[in-house]
Amino acid sequence: MSSKCDNCKPAKCCLYTSMEIDTPETRKDHEYNLWLIAHKNIAFYVDRKIWHINFTSRCKFLNKDNRCKIYDKRFYVCRNHDTDSCEDTGDYDFSEYFNNYDELLNYIKKKHPRWRFADPRKK
Ligand code: SF4
Ligand code: SF4
Repeated sequence: MSSKCDNCKPAKCCLYTSMEIDTPETRKDHEYNLWLIAHKNIAFYVDRKIWHINFTSRCKFLNKDNRCKIYDKRFYVCRNHDTDSCEDTGDYDFSEYFNNYDELLNYIKKKHPRWRFADPRKK
């Protein structure tokens, strides 16, 4: 483990997963993303025009001392992770980040002012 990682507590890169998704275009696409982000620990971000879904979820192999329990056999994504441009040291400048339902809904409303979404929380 890099010495940089010793000071990163808890290890930020071991607390989430994310993956690329298709850019939402239709109303149905956006409504589907609203459904996803209505779930706990789901977020979206846009990095260099590519949409990603983010799941806040601690890796089961991170021990209580902030160490990887399977360090010598860790996954290739972990091996390839560059500590010089990681979640703790890097310059993450996402063009969009939606941390919750309302942030995503406001974005959609601005982008598509004619679309109407009934607020499911209103009676
Ligand atoms: S790679 Fe970066 S984010 Fe991960 S533990 Fe090390 S310093 Fe923290
Ligand atoms: S396998 Fe180890 S290095 Fe990879 S995410 Fe899990 S705790 Fe972190």
